[in-house]
Amino acid sequence: MTKPDILVMYPARPHAMAQLEQAYTLHRYDEAADKPAFLAQHGPKCSGVVINGHATLTHAMLQHLPNCRIVACSSAGFESIDVEALADHGIAFTNTSAALYDDVADAALMLTLAARRELVQAHGYVQTGEWGEKGPWPLLSTLTGKRAGILGFGTIGKAIAARFAPLKLEIGYTARSQKDVPHQYFADPMALADWADILVVIVPGGEETDGMVDAAMLGALGPTGTLINVARGSVVDEPALIDALTTGALGSAGLDVYQNEPQPDPRLTALPNVTLYPHHASGTVETRDAMAQLVVDNLAAHFQGNPLLTPVAVPA
Ligand code: NAP
Repeated sequence: MTKPDILVMYPARPHAMAQLEQAYTLHRYDEAADKPAFLAQHGPKCSGVVINGHATLTHAMLQHLPNCRIVACSSAGFESIDVEALADHGIAFTNTSAALYDDVADAALMLTLAARRELVQAHGYVQTGEWGEKGPWPLLSTLTGKRAGILGFGTIGKAIAARFAPLKLEIGYTARSQKDVPHQYFADPMALADWADILVVIVPGGEETDGMVDAAMLGALGPTGTLINVARGSVVDEPALIDALTTGALGSAGLDVYQNEPQPDPRLTALPNVTLYPHHASGTVETRDAMAQLVVDNLAAHFQGNPLLTPVAVPA
């Protein structure tokens, strides 16, 4: 039996790639020196694409993929992929939020606790011996009873709320539509920031949310407030964030994502009131393997005529 042709725009984990190699004829766009020429030559015979949010798939590129019927993305975020164009061409699209939400929610919790309790700074205080010379670390503010605003209440936002609730945090959220949950809904992100002590950003990146967390929102969060960003660097106005953290208009930040990765602005990384993580919220072996396996399983479901495991519905 002839194997279906698949365009690999971004490779999956080795175990998943081995399975893909068994089942399909793979065309390694990711390894091609002249990518446009490779796409023009091999795209027309491909009936599926393997990709992740680091790669770009535009409307123009789809002209070279006339027989493509499925795009399997190994990340949760997909702002670099034109999903409206996929829908227009009748191409199914899958992502891997379902495999990674626990780890990303853990990372949001970790950054919240670390930023609020100054874990990294205090760790240095013990390690350098300053504790013995200067005495006790200053008293901090309890998390108990504080208000946590979650900006984006999808798969990951809900998992973050589930971790925050046992900490006795009061939870509010913003999404495009109100959910059937017992937390306070804020249609306006600014009102959420005004209400919250801690604002956790977990909306998708892309044009619609670009710079959504601006100077006014950071100011509303205030001098005792904390910004946690586990979404995309683009969602936060980073110069405004640096300014707010420097002047004390914002108390602290815990960040997994930045505008310029992997070399974030040194004016941001040098600040004493930031806790930094290298875009690694989903970075565990188990989760990365599960994400890659979802790519394999979604493709298998598609080619066997079964329902996809994690299809993404493109909003109208
Ligand atoms: P999701 O299930 O699609 O949820 C997205 C949420 O954001 C939804 O509640 C949605 O509202 C809301 N939203 C979208 N646009 C909005 C807007 N303009 N204003 C207000 N709310 C808006 O996505 P997810 O799986 O939770 O993932 C969210 C994002 O996290 C991903 O797109 C990705 O960029 C990022 N991420 C980062 C990492 C990391 O390593 N740091 C890992 C995974 C994901 P509705 O529910 O009303 O539609």
